Amino acid sequence: MRVLVAGGAGYIGSVVTAALLQGGHEVTVLDDLSTGHADAVPSGAGLVQATLHDSAPVLADVRPEAVLHFAAKSLVGESQVKPEIYWDTNVTGTLALLEAMRAVDCRRIVFSSTAATYGEPESVPIREDAPTRPTNTYGASKLAVDAMLTSYAAAHDFAAVSLRYFNVAGAAYGLGERHTTETHLIPIALQVAAGTREALTIYGEDYPTPDGTCIRDYIHVADLADAHLLALTAPAAGEHRIYNLGNGTGFSVQQVVDAVREVTGHPVPVVVGQRRAGDPAQLVASSDRIRADLGWTPKHTELPDIVRDAWETARARR
Ligand code: UDP
Repeated sequence: MRVLVAGGAGYIGSVVTAALLQGGHEVTVLDDLSTGHADAVPSGAGLVQATLHDSAPVLADVRPEAVLHFAAKSLVGESQVKPEIYWDTNVTGTLALLEAMRAVDCRRIVFSSTAATYGEPESVPIREDAPTRPTNTYGASKLAVDAMLTSYAAAHDFAAVSLRYFNVAGAAYGLGERHTTETHLIPIALQVAAGTREALTIYGEDYPTPDGTCIRDYIHVADLADAHLLALTAPAAGEHRIYNLGNGTGFSVQQVVDAVREVTGHPVPVVVGQRRAGDPAQLVASSDRIRADLGWTPKHTELPDIVRDAWETARARR
């Protein structure tokens, strides 16, 4: 299929681009390179530097049969102090992309949604029919796009899938996380193991969990990429499907730190700090729906395997 990958120079977008190329698809990446890296775009794909707001001429030129949409601002903390950036890029930027799609009669889309659309869960594992009450602007902006897709499917015959990611980690095709502002646990812990950061601050150890630290569902980026390829052809015109993507097992911050120590063989000094505002004690996905509908099964569910892939890819870059 001829596909356009919006945000294909970022961590997840570049891995999915590599998987699409391996699956025989023809890929053009659209990315404004505000947070992505041109050298992360796999060599078999084209790259056009443009924002979502300026995507119309790119779609008119590429004439894609489907779009995979990863382009977004994704820092929770920043979204609370600069919400305008999140409404502008994530919401009105996506609206411009959907209109650019409609103009060239391209109506198939896979969208990167997030567990942050649910907010504080009433129960775990979280299913797709759980209430959506985001606790930050980032989650609210992604939820707005999910709603947009529901209405574009109903009114304009879009075939759409929203994939709600839990904690994406690991690396594939030599591509891993390379954020200028790094906020995620595993890359930070690996930087401490590598000696490029002094210590890891554990944000609270007084949560109601077995070891007192927060529990998250870490999904390997290669498993996430598999889900995108399955989702690409799944919906019919007029259908918007929503699927959670997690590995179904929760790991605590302490377990992640232990895995990083074990895999790297390096010390990881930790400091216990205050809780981070808005962090629920536990976020674990039920991915039963995508397993049942699309036959998706995660292959890399062990924490040390996820950490090892991230470590080896980060080390190869140094
Ligand atoms: N965390 C931590 N120290 C850090 C970064 C993260 O203790 O330097 C914790 C954070 O409180 C959360 C978990 O690690 O419980 C995962 O955080 P991350 O930012 O990676 O992903 P999130 O779950 O917020 O999307």
